[in-house]
Amino acid sequence: MADDIIDLKLGLTSMIGHYVFVREVRHWETLESLLHGVQSDCCGGSVMFEVLLTDSEKRIRDEVRAFVRDKVDRSLILSMDSREKEYPYEFVKALGQANLIGLRFPKKYGGRGLGWVSEMAAIEEVGVLGIALGCAYSLPSIIGEGINKFGTEEQKRNYLLPTLRGEKICGEGLTEPRGGSDFFGTNTVAVKRGERFVINGEKRFVAGGVGADYFLIYAKTEFTGPPHKSLSAFLVNRDSGVKVEEEYELMGCRGMGAARIVLNNIEASETDLVGGPNAGNDVFNAMMVPERLTSAAGAIGMGRAALEIAVRYSDKREAFGQKICRFEGVSFKVADCATQLDAARGLVYHAAKKADTGAWCRKEVSQAKVFATEAGFQAIHESMQMLGGIGYTNVYPIERLFRDSRLGITWTGSNEVQRLIIQNEVYKEILSEERGLKRDVELDTPGAHKTAEKVFSEPADKYLKSS
Ligand SMILES: Cc1cc2nc3c(=O)[nH]c(=O)nc-3n(C[C@H](O)[C@H](O)[C@H](O)COP(=O)(O)OP(=O)(O)OC[C@H]3O[C@@H](n4cnc5c(N)ncnc54)[C@H](O)[C@@H]3O)c2cc1C
Repeated sequence: MADDIIDLKLGLTSMIGHYVFVREVRHWETLESLLHGVQSDCCGGSVMFEVLLTDSEKRIRDEVRAFVRDKVDRSLILSMDSREKEYPYEFVKALGQANLIGLRFPKKYGGRGLGWVSEMAAIEEVGVLGIALGCAYSLPSIIGEGINKFGTEEQKRNYLLPTLRGEKICGEGLTEPRGGSDFFGTNTVAVKRGERFVINGEKRFVAGGVGADYFLIYAKTEFTGPPHKSLSAFLVNRDSGVKVEEEYELMGCRGMGAARIVLNNIEASETDLVGGPNAGNDVFNAMMVPERLTSAAGAIGMGRAALEIAVRYSDKREAFGQKICRFEGVSFKVADCATQLDAARGLVYHAAKKADTGAWCRKEVSQAKVFATEAGFQAIHESMQMLGGIGYTNVYPIERLFRDSRLGITWTGSNEVQRLIIQNEVYKEILSEERGLKRDVELDTPGAHKTAEKVFSEPADKYLKSS
């Protein structure tokens, strides 16, 4: 039977039900192979995934995939999730020893000199371990970006190098009890007293608040200028007096030591500044690229892991005398989730490729973050549904992935904030475009000449004046 006839049958039967679908399609083997092809392509190693990566990017992905398969003890994941463990030191150390941290940083600081796409492929693999270990893997990339781009040689030797070797643990302090979305409204201050800065403030939800050796802390250093010219980024060692006041009980992302830390009269010097005084805006913008891209790629890993479990389950579980994957109500979830995850991967690689060119990529990064975190969460949600009640238990890890992946929508800049950024960039792009470069499609309509109908606003007293 020709493929187009099968397509027609598939279309028709989606309207009239599975029973008719099975009876009407006579060339079952052909359909079987079509179905089989869809099922094996859509999850584990999608075609798009392969086509978009170079051989070197595939090699690093495979290396990280093997590390994730062989070197991460299941007991680590379970003890973190059950709150027995506060920080996964051994994971970071093992990653460092395998030279897998901060892949895109220069070799002389412990990286491998690879690109953003390699790092995204790696993060997706680590993502299958859940958001906490994904976060432990990502933080050196995020904080490292600030140090590598804006730090001094001394800072790179003392902080970046040991971080990428897995010998020093880092954390970042942006969010405050007062709020995280309004980053530039920060209340933490660093006041200059002679040659020293004195830092006072609090940072909330700091991953590694318990566990990190040092923090990148944003504080206000200018008190009269505009907010985006008023912040500075400081490297602050825990042993300079950082106190943990609250370790949060979290829905997911457990075992990463997320805490509220307090900085009370902590002294810092000019040499602790990353990027100089009041350069916080530049450091922040640079760090937001890995911050959001790692969230995005990690979310794809989590979604993929859940979907693979659900595909295998639905290929075995039976109801009404047949495998549940034969019901379109089940298998169409696979189609939708796999498509969304592949689309997310496309956005992530696109943003990563643009980041590799050094071009401004705020829109692309935010698009990838929004889409991938929502696609990942949705894939996990639908996978849980495909498993029925057992998906809601800890017999399968989907409930943990569900709890973990929900965070992706909120952190590293909430998805509402990402949408604000995207619309802002899109308006800038379209409104600054020269009109003559493209066809003026607005005119391709019979009423185009009716300029009197093209009313965009009018004064409220328009008629009052003439009355
Ligand atoms: C487990 C965990 C780990 C974290 N790790 C870190 C970390 O290591 N370092 C760190 O600095 N932070 C960290 N965060 C903080 C996280 O990034 C923030 O929670 C997040 O940015 C939101 O800030 P907020 O919680 O203060 O919410 P708010 O800023 O108070 O926002 C509340 C709600 O209002 C919405 N909102 C706010 N402003 C707007 C607007 N202009 N338009 C539309 N909607 C808006 C938000 O989207 C959100 O839905 C972590 C959080 C968690 C839960």
